Amino acid sequence: TLKILQGQKALVTGANSGIGMGVALALGEAGADVVVNYRSKPEVAEQVVEKIKGFGSNALAIHADVSKEDEIQAMFAKMVETFGTIDILVANAGLQRDAPIDEMTLDQWNAVITVNLTGQFLCCREAIREFKRRGVRPEVSCAAGKIICMSSVHEIIPWSGHVNYAASKGGVMLMMKSIAQEVAPHRIRVNSICPGAIRTPINKAAWDTPEAYDKLMKVIPYKRIGEPEDIAHAAVWLASDHADYVTGTSIVVDGGMCLFPGFAENG
Ligand code: NAD
Repeated sequence: TLKILQGQKALVTGANSGIGMGVALALGEAGADVVVNYRSKPEVAEQVVEKIKGFGSNALAIHADVSKEDEIQAMFAKMVETFGTIDILVANAGLQRDAPIDEMTLDQWNAVITVNLTGQFLCCREAIREFKRRGVRPEVSCAAGKIICMSSVHEIIPWSGHVNYAASKGGVMLMMKSIAQEVAPHRIRVNSICPGAIRTPINKAAWDTPEAYDKLMKVIPYKRIGEPEDIAHAAVWLASDHADYVTGTSIVVDGGMCLFPGFAENG
């Protein structure tokens, strides 16, 4: 396979499940050395590390809760100590705590905003500090650094019963664009991927029975659920110099979920 990211150093948060795992494997297969961040299940993180090593890239599992400033700083310090630097950050870790608005507790609200939005802020800040310190490494990339924020179609589509989640992703959108605007002169590119419905543990209830899957298909014009690989392919491209003129953009990967599918029958 084409080693489009050969020699680059990547960090993926929440890389021992779902989309993060798919992205970490694809970056490793494309030639990047990868830090596999995890919060729980170290044994699964180690399996991801072993698979990446099987592609001939280096990999290292590092524990950190993305919502804890000291843990994030320690993780970046360990990465720089081990791999020398960072070229690619994929701020992926995220969770849901669903409830109707009138029943949503402050704990549920804070849990989602703290991990999905503040966690991405903390990781972006640490990565940019290292990108600015180091500057461009022309031997591996035209850019001094690349950040990919894992957002969601719910930075666009309002989502009843998930107000905290949609607010966190709406926040990610303008955080990403504002950071992109600020750091572009330093040759740092910052973009988001907005997945639609991807087959992972976070939304198992939406695809693991035939009834649920049929209902899901009503909002997906392309008539299949997404797989982590669909997101991983977009991430490898965004991280590569093939996307060197792309910054501040949300890339929707959703089988047409954002195309107002209800209007297909209302022409
Ligand atoms: P997942 O539950 O399989 O994976 C989430 C990962 O984040 C897990 O590894 C989990 O341990 C980790 N994580 C959660 N809290 C953490 C914390 N505080 N510190 C470190 N790691 C933490 O779900 P997924 O579908 O792979 O989700 C990944 C990202 O994609 C999330 O940001 C999610 O919002 C986004 N997303 C998913 C879908 C989908 O349909 N699956 C759609 C749109 C967006």
